[in-house]
Amino acid sequence: RQDAHAAVGGERERRAARVPLGVRLRVLRVLVTGGAGFVGSHLVDRLLERGDSVIVVDNFFTGRKENLAHHDPATAALEVIRHDVVEPALLEVDRIYHLACPASPVHYKHNPVKTAKTSVVGTLNMLGLAKRVGARFLLTSTSEVYGDPLQHPQVETYWGNVNPIGVRSCYDEGKRTAETLAMDYHRAANLEVRIARIFNTYEPRMCIDDGRVVSNFVAQALRKEPLTVYGDGKQTRSFQYVSDLVEGLMKLMEGEHVGPFNLGNPGEFTMLELARVVQETIDRGARIEFRPNTADDPHKRKPDIARAKQLLGWEPKVPLREGLPLMVQDFRARIFGDGQQAAQ
Ligand code: NAD
Ligand code: UDP
Ligand code: UDP
Repeated sequence: RQDAHAAVGGERERRAARVPLGVRLRVLRVLVTGGAGFVGSHLVDRLLERGDSVIVVDNFFTGRKENLAHHDPATAALEVIRHDVVEPALLEVDRIYHLACPASPVHYKHNPVKTAKTSVVGTLNMLGLAKRVGARFLLTSTSEVYGDPLQHPQVETYWGNVNPIGVRSCYDEGKRTAETLAMDYHRAANLEVRIARIFNTYEPRMCIDDGRVVSNFVAQALRKEPLTVYGDGKQTRSFQYVSDLVEGLMKLMEGEHVGPFNLGNPGEFTMLELARVVQETIDRGARIEFRPNTADDPHKRKPDIARAKQLLGWEPKVPLREGLPLMVQDFRARIFGDGQQAAQ
């Protein structure tokens, strides 16, 4: 008799695995911590679409219920729980996508001790949960583990250049410790782990006052305010559209490799070049205003994605000039309301 557990997965997986209709299928139970945030909510959309049963755990520090409101609570296989991952949680799941952590520098510097606790104690708790129930665990780490990199582009084997006592350390060192914990649970408890190092990602559901550069520039251009370029604007970042990231996260989770894997778009822009793309997309007359830069701001950042290409068969598809307009429509509606949007 065919073991139903061999057929864990959604409808698509069942068809792919040619599981006969008569065999009872156990739906994959997936926990997404931080699932009300902007990356998390897109991941939840895709998991539900695939037929998984999804539990979101979120303390709504930066996440919003509206990000998940398009799922009908009566029919969607979605349960949303208000919970802080710094406290232990008892749940029964097969997969854990661990995203809970503020990601914008403005947010993570707001309460740095809480950020470090979220990354370290929160990750420890979710690893403990994964160990207890035998779930596979994916950590969303960050390009920030490379700090102000001395290697360019950044390869996964690079150990980074991080200030351990600076204002960004709560996040950078927090995520580095989270990676350490994940690897130690993998080695000591035989836990199945996956590590993604995510590079700057943008998309329509970002908080308008998120403080990150893409959302700032788009909101400023729409409001006819000057685009605030920090420092001389020559520092670089590489911007990835959210759908590419979500695809990479799911491929990583379902694949057989631990990682870490860089997930990012290698298209690299200075902040002045980004401002120019925003001007071209929204308002050619938008002014630029220079502001002092923040402490320890990395000078450059660009992922080497050869490992993800080779082992996950993944690469991003949406260039900045295609992704940005998708965000503008949503920001316009949220800033001006639908009525005024029509008048734009
Ligand atoms: P976000 O701020 O939109 O989402 C984070 C979510 O985690 C929010 O819903 C927030 O309420 C929740 N959260 C925060 N602290 C929590 C806690 N203690 N307990 C429970 N929930 C908590 O940010 P995002 O951009 O969607 O980031 C998601 C993950 O991806 C984060 O772990 C972040 O570090 C990582 N990441 C994102 C980027 C990016 O550019 N978006 C880059 C690198 C890494
Ligand atoms: N934990 C949790 N949910 C669980 C199992 C564990 O939140 O279902 C937490 C637990 O409270 C502990 C952490 O995960 O703080 C690490 O658990 P583990 O069993 O690995 O270590 P120990 O409890 O032995 O320190
Ligand atoms: N930045 C900027 N103007 C802004 C916000 C940010 O020029 O209004 C710069 C910031 O100094 C950094 C880059 O944009 O060099 C990316 O910052 P963000 O906060 O988006 O993400 P980070 O990669 O620093 O985590």
